[in-house]
Amino acid sequence: MLNFVLFGPPGAGKGTQSQKLIDQYQLIHISTGDLFRAHIKNQSPLGQRVSELIADGQLVPDEITIAMLEEEVDKNPGAKGFIFDGFPRTVPQAAALDEFLESKGSSIAGVIALDVDQEELTKRIAQRQLETGRVDDQADKLQKRIDEYFSKTIHVLPYYEAQNKLSKVNGIGKIDDIFAELCAVVDKY
Ligand code: AMP
Repeated sequence: MLNFVLFGPPGAGKGTQSQKLIDQYQLIHISTGDLFRAHIKNQSPLGQRVSELIADGQLVPDEITIAMLEEEVDKNPGAKGFIFDGFPRTVPQAAALDEFLESKGSSIAGVIALDVDQEELTKRIAQRQLETGRVDDQADKLQKRIDEYFSKTIHVLPYYEAQNKLSKVNGIGKIDDIFAELCAVVDKY
């Protein structure tokens, strides 16, 4: 299996670029944010447990998120590989993912971090809020999500850097130019 993590703060373009990557490389896309939103929409017990946290812009506890992610991977036993989008967001999640993949004789091949400055992120999310109405894209919740990113999620980068798996790609510019840079990284594997 060829597994990648697409990493970046809210609004970095992870969803957009993941879509293009799965078309190009026939990988399975797993976005923990999309999975949580589906649970909330379906009012599943998990959805009911996490909806307030998510609406408020906080991270969902690790054990809940890890269990959901592992279940989703297990639904795709024949996969060529996965693109993990929005996961891992904490160091314990990254360690759990390593352990889980190792138990399947697999691993993370590479981590691609989309680099976008805060001003641009705020602009993009304000636009997305208008288009989708996502409550957690509202300004006060967004600030909380950005704070979660810079207090907890950012530490995932040195975790992968220590494993020599981290590549940074400039996330500002034309979508297709950014995609070409991402492909150049993926094609190295
Ligand atoms: P996203 O669509 O990736 O921005 O995720 C939306 C929200 O879902 C986040 O703000 C968190 O509340 C929750 N979430 C998604 N992925 C994770 C994760 N890996 N760990 C904890 N919470 C998550």
